[in-house]
Amino acid sequence: MATVNIRRNVDDKFYRYKMPSLLTKVEGRGNGIKTVIPNMEDVAHALARPPTYPTKFFGCELGAQTTFANDRYIVNGSHTAERLRELLDTFIEKFVLCPSCKNPETELIITGKGNSEAIHRDCKACGRQNDIDMRHKLTTFILRNPPKKDKGKKGGKQMTATANVGGPMVFEKGTNGNVNAEDGSDDGAQSPDIGLAAAVPTSGTDIDDALGRSDPILGNPDAAEEVSKKLEALNVDEDDEEDANSPYTALGSWLKENKTADDAAVISKIKELEIVGKHKVLLEIGQHLFTDEIAKEIGKRVSLLQVLVQANSEKHQKSLLGGIERLLALSPQSEQLLAAGTTSKVLMALYQADILEEEVVRQWGTHVSKKYVDKDKSKKVRKSADAFLKWLDEAEESSEEEDDE
Ligand SMILES: [Zn+2]
Repeated sequence: MATVNIRRNVDDKFYRYKMPSLLTKVEGRGNGIKTVIPNMEDVAHALARPPTYPTKFFGCELGAQTTFANDRYIVNGSHTAERLRELLDTFIEKFVLCPSCKNPETELIITGKGNSEAIHRDCKACGRQNDIDMRHKLTTFILRNPPKKDKGKKGGKQMTATANVGGPMVFEKGTNGNVNAEDGSDDGAQSPDIGLAAAVPTSGTDIDDALGRSDPILGNPDAAEEVSKKLEALNVDEDDEEDANSPYTALGSWLKENKTADDAAVISKIKELEIVGKHKVLLEIGQHLFTDEIAKEIGKRVSLLQVLVQANSEKHQKSLLGGIERLLALSPQSEQLLAAGTTSKVLMALYQADILEEEVVRQWGTHVSKKYVDKDKSKKVRKSADAFLKWLDEAEESSEEEDDE
């Protein structure tokens, strides 16, 4: 992979501080067009900053919405790699380099409380502390999502490692972490290994190295604890799955009776049942809020779904897909609905509204599962998504052409 000097204006091939050259990939089209930064983690790692910081910085500078979930760093809109590299230079100038000695080995330190909160760059090279300009919007984001403290390990490596955990947390709305560990149970298509990998940071970190070795869990007590927590959460989830008294069943029954309830009423029902933020809410919503007219109805529920599908969490997306799958497969009109390409229409609306991510839809669309309906039905529902999946492939091809610049 091509690397560049962290200070790109330093024309010295022996300059010690390098980072991977930032890459971009434009996905989707129309209102749903977005720029994915596939190597954001590696770039951020080299800068010893959480990958969310530069991504959010791009968003601030471009006035664009950003999303980070499942290790995907996305800026809405279509942006060239060169533009983002220039912005990255600015980010490095303002948030990484020591203004005194221009060394990039700095750590962000937050001091003060309330209105007097401030962020400093603590330079490992010259020892000086320099203030960050608090007028930049990114500072608010940093204060809300502070860099995790080193736990005895030195250098930026650890910072990046913890930052990955911090990444998805940004949009977390007060429930269990939205890491996809619990999806390990999904349909057998994913091995438990994926659960483990998701429970700890991925990509080029100390922990990642540890995971690659023969005994990842024992080798890493933190990871082991993290995993057992996830597994615990998973068991709880499974237990109440078919419980007739569960709040999810109650929500489902309520939705069946109140399909025309406005978004606010749906949300207060979810609050009343104390299941705010739970991914299984989406299963009920997908199955019971809509009727056979879902292709028409989905557009009106986009805002509600944007609120309920947390942080583009894979789990939430999969539950929503599962609910919709049930609706379409179990409807007495199922054959007609599927023949009319209803699945494609619904997926398109959800994708364009950034509720579903490309990778999640692809994975769903190409893996028949008997988790929600029987296999035969599951196959038919996916067949009805063909048009959308084909469209995704074409959109991808055309964005690759654009990448060639
Ligand atoms: Zn310095």
